[in-house]
Amino acid sequence: MKKQPAFLIMTLIVMTLFLTSSCNNHKSLNTGTKVPAFDISGIDSTIKPCADFDGFANGNWKKHNPVPSTEGSWGSFEVLDKENREVKIKGIINELLSQENLKKGSEAQLITGYYRSYLDTVTLAKRGITPIIPLSEKIVAAKSNMDLIALAGELARLNISGPFEVYVNADDRNSTMNAIFMGQGGLSMRDRNYYENKDSAMVKIRAEFVKHVDKMFSMAGWNEKAPGQTILDFETKLALIQLKNFEMRDPVKIYNKIPFSELQKLAAGINWADYYKNYGLHADTVIVQDKNYLKNLGLLIKSTPVETLKTYFRWRLLTNFANVLPSQFNKESFHFFSTVMFGVKTQRPREERAVMSVNYRLGMPLGKLYVAKYFPESSKKKVSEMIENVRSVYRERIDKLTWMSAPTKEKAKKKLAAFTWKIGYPDTWKDYSSIDIQPDKLIENSMNITLWEHNDMISKAGKPVDKKEWGMSPQTINAYNNPTNNEIVFPAAILQPPFFNPDADDAINYGAIIGVIGHEMTHGFDDQGAQYDGNGNLSNWWTPEDSKNFISLGKKLEEYFSSIEVTKGFKINGKLTLGENIADLGGLTLGYYALEKSLEGKKKPEPINGFTYQQRFFLGWAQVWRENMTNESLINQVQTNEHSPARWRINATLPLMKEFSDAFGCKCTVADSLKIVIW
Ligand SMILES: [Zn+2]
Repeated sequence: MKKQPAFLIMTLIVMTLFLTSSCNNHKSLNTGTKVPAFDISGIDSTIKPCADFDGFANGNWKKHNPVPSTEGSWGSFEVLDKENREVKIKGIINELLSQENLKKGSEAQLITGYYRSYLDTVTLAKRGITPIIPLSEKIVAAKSNMDLIALAGELARLNISGPFEVYVNADDRNSTMNAIFMGQGGLSMRDRNYYENKDSAMVKIRAEFVKHVDKMFSMAGWNEKAPGQTILDFETKLALIQLKNFEMRDPVKIYNKIPFSELQKLAAGINWADYYKNYGLHADTVIVQDKNYLKNLGLLIKSTPVETLKTYFRWRLLTNFANVLPSQFNKESFHFFSTVMFGVKTQRPREERAVMSVNYRLGMPLGKLYVAKYFPESSKKKVSEMIENVRSVYRERIDKLTWMSAPTKEKAKKKLAAFTWKIGYPDTWKDYSSIDIQPDKLIENSMNITLWEHNDMISKAGKPVDKKEWGMSPQTINAYNNPTNNEIVFPAAILQPPFFNPDADDAINYGAIIGVIGHEMTHGFDDQGAQYDGNGNLSNWWTPEDSKNFISLGKKLEEYFSSIEVTKGFKINGKLTLGENIADLGGLTLGYYALEKSLEGKKKPEPINGFTYQQRFFLGWAQVWRENMTNESLINQVQTNEHSPARWRINATLPLMKEFSDAFGCKCTVADSLKIVIW
């Protein structure tokens, strides 16, 4: 329930909003013991590596590891995530549950209290929707659209967001200070594509959405007439005035700082002052994503009947709390947001969901206990050395680039030298002790956590940025680049096999964790990141000629990815995935040359299982990205996500590299003109 929209940080993998993963009967990886570096049994040697490297490296694994019924996708990340949760996180929770007389506000009390409240289905059923009725009544009592917008400020504090989202984050043009941002929002299906795409699969999802909303209203005992169609119609109008997902990737375009007073002129149909007051923020200036959207939104709100807006806000209330309401609401919400949208067939057992919910809502208090138990301090040193190696290879690569001139190279190296990194977990932990958590009040617990997060966020407005803050909990299997801090961040949990294995063959590690480090570092120089300087400010450090060359290389990559059809009727969006594709190509290149550099002056490693060290490097990358997906998840990913599907992070990216073709003796995998070198 992070208030920050995803575009602010660039991540390694899809951060799924509706579900995370889990299932039984997969052989678990056990860190701390010797793990084979590469799982040879996953190879399908009947497939030619040059023709389909994913099929070759992972074919057998994929055949024997279909997507479990509780999942939308299943691969290295999901397997490790499940093991991490079922063994480590569940283990921590179980240990805490056996303790008595826990101090109110301590990590242990928050975690066990929330966990127990999640499992107390008897109380949950008894209370029904009672805890959210006062909010619903406020919505119903509103007399005008203006009343409703004022109330929306109060609802947004509980994360019941309407058509726009207000949040506090580092100012992209003054990165040491926090500013107030305002962006588009309020779509239940999250992305404009779900409202306008004419493909029959999407038409079907919209029809299911109408049914879902109707059912939820009926279960709540709210008797609006045809609420589903009302919501779909209103959200479609909203969607059609919003920026498309790839348009939001341009940091200059979405940075529009205006005086607060200008909001009223832009969108007269909205009483901004009341909204902000109820949201708890005082703003002199606001950075808006898209002025046109606010203008059109003002007109839309003005022309929408008050009854429609009431239905809309009641729906936002109900769907926001669906997971913490009695089980019939969870089930119905699961049916639409997981089964219909992602092809997940079976809902996980409640106990498993309880663990996930604690991990999601109390990630940092839990993370504090997690790293104390599971993160070896020695990893910090090893990983920091790896990062420095990648940095030095990057410097050499910049020097050798043929498409960039000397003045821009100097600036690029200056930015590279200013990079900072974080490994494992935060140096300081925030104080969560004021959150009131009761073992029998799940809905209130959820509200109290959200309010704590809200207050924490708004308290930063106008204040200096805390450069030490983390945007992910340490037990998250992911990594990110935060451009306004010019930093890359690696949570503790990704520093485990198959990503990082201190006991394993170096070549595999370079293709895995070093590729990941290179990926995050390259984000600082992808089409978005390259617009920020070493201090994390949006400022153009490129000569016009170099900028032109960079954009045209990106264009080539964009067109190449846009030509790939991943499932019938759906292609990768090369514009939306450009930054990630640049980061993959750059990360692999950096990893490869870091490996070569580590071997300089040394005897070259012997083949293992018949694979040269160069070949093993690419196998390491392929192992990280082995993944099966349901068709629905695949469609969702290419419609909404900045990451290309895992199969294509292997199969589309590797053939672009001469180093790959050389390693496997491939001829003509792609045209020579497509051997793209950006970094
Ligand atoms: Zn990324």
